[in-house]
Amino acid sequence: MTFEQQLQAALDARRKENLYRSRKLVGSAQGVRVLRGDKEYLSFCSNDYLALANEPRIINAMQNAAEQYGVGSGASHLVNGHSEEHHLLEVELAHFTGRPRALLFSTGYMANIGVISALVGRGDAVLQDKLNHASLLDGGLQSGAEFIRYRHNDMEHLEKRLAKCQARRKLIVVDGVFSMDGDEANLVDTCALAKKYDAWVMVDDAHGFGVHGEHGSGTVSKFGLGVEDVQIVVGTFGKAFGTFGAFVAGSETLIESLIQFARPYIYTTAMPPAVSAATSASLNIVMEEEHRREQLRTLITHFRNKCDAYAIPLMASSSPIQPILVGDEASALAISKILEAKGIWLTAIRPPTVPKGTSRLRVTFSAAHSLADVNTLVEAICEAMDELKVIKNKTA
Ligand SMILES: *Cc1c(COP(=O)(O)O)cnc(C)c1O
Repeated sequence: MTFEQQLQAALDARRKENLYRSRKLVGSAQGVRVLRGDKEYLSFCSNDYLALANEPRIINAMQNAAEQYGVGSGASHLVNGHSEEHHLLEVELAHFTGRPRALLFSTGYMANIGVISALVGRGDAVLQDKLNHASLLDGGLQSGAEFIRYRHNDMEHLEKRLAKCQARRKLIVVDGVFSMDGDEANLVDTCALAKKYDAWVMVDDAHGFGVHGEHGSGTVSKFGLGVEDVQIVVGTFGKAFGTFGAFVAGSETLIESLIQFARPYIYTTAMPPAVSAATSASLNIVMEEEHRREQLRTLITHFRNKCDAYAIPLMASSSPIQPILVGDEASALAISKILEAKGIWLTAIRPPTVPKGTSRLRVTFSAAHSLADVNTLVEAICEAMDELKVIKNKTA
């Protein structure tokens, strides 16, 4: 087979397994209602939890900063791309997370790869929950450190792994809120084990910031864990903040180490200053507008009660990520298609994003959803499941 034929064969195989992915063209701003072509969809798959991706005050901040700083940052942070807007946001984020310092990264994917490979390598070990985000797993694999995985939130298993580990440095890496399941990491016990075995803890709280904790300060803060417990906190702006980019927060030594040694920090163009300015505006709203989190809690409770009443199986999540476990890829896809015909956008999540046999409809809520939207969704899912004779009332 030629190069081209080999690629085509892999594509064909993927299609046959119901794992083929395709993109849909969006013709409007993000929101609860989005346009695809001339059809409007009620969307339940965005990570824009606080409905800030199209918030006028944030748009305004971005426009003003673009007037002042232009659109491009011109270079990396270490050459001449480090703007006052970047600095200001870093100071605000340090305060927000209760850490001495914070450092911006262009994306969360790059932050995770950068942090892990700057801090551990050959002779070290990185220990990761099996359900960690792909960027954390990739960072661990690229770092060259011994790569150790433990069963999801299984503290006994983690302790066994730690007890056996002879590495020079040990780094435990975990999602604060698991992105495809919506449940939280057992951070308090993880930190206790880390202390006992002299390891550091890194928490990727991409889905916790803005949603959990006082003023949306995240899962780590919710459990009162300081910089001695969780040495490294990662957050992203593409979710609850509604903008784009990411940050790492921790000690002076951590941040200086990243500036010197994290290659995805050093060898990339800084995010546009206008994106930093937008994120600063967003951070203010995240901290101050508690009603957005309140609305999310109301929606989540209503959704879970309604699913119970309709015998739709739920997963153990109290976050705006409320997946409905279906199982096989074909059924998950078929339900998603039926919903699409009804004007509801809910993507089926399939392997390799989730383990085989656990394909699901990953429902996510935004503060801009209404209770009526939730009713529309649950009723439509129920009809689709009945139509396809998907077995309900099994506990996930
Ligand atoms: C989205 C996400 C990332 C990646 O962040 P980007 O800024 O989108 O690159 C990393 N970790 C988790 C848990 C995520 O959900």
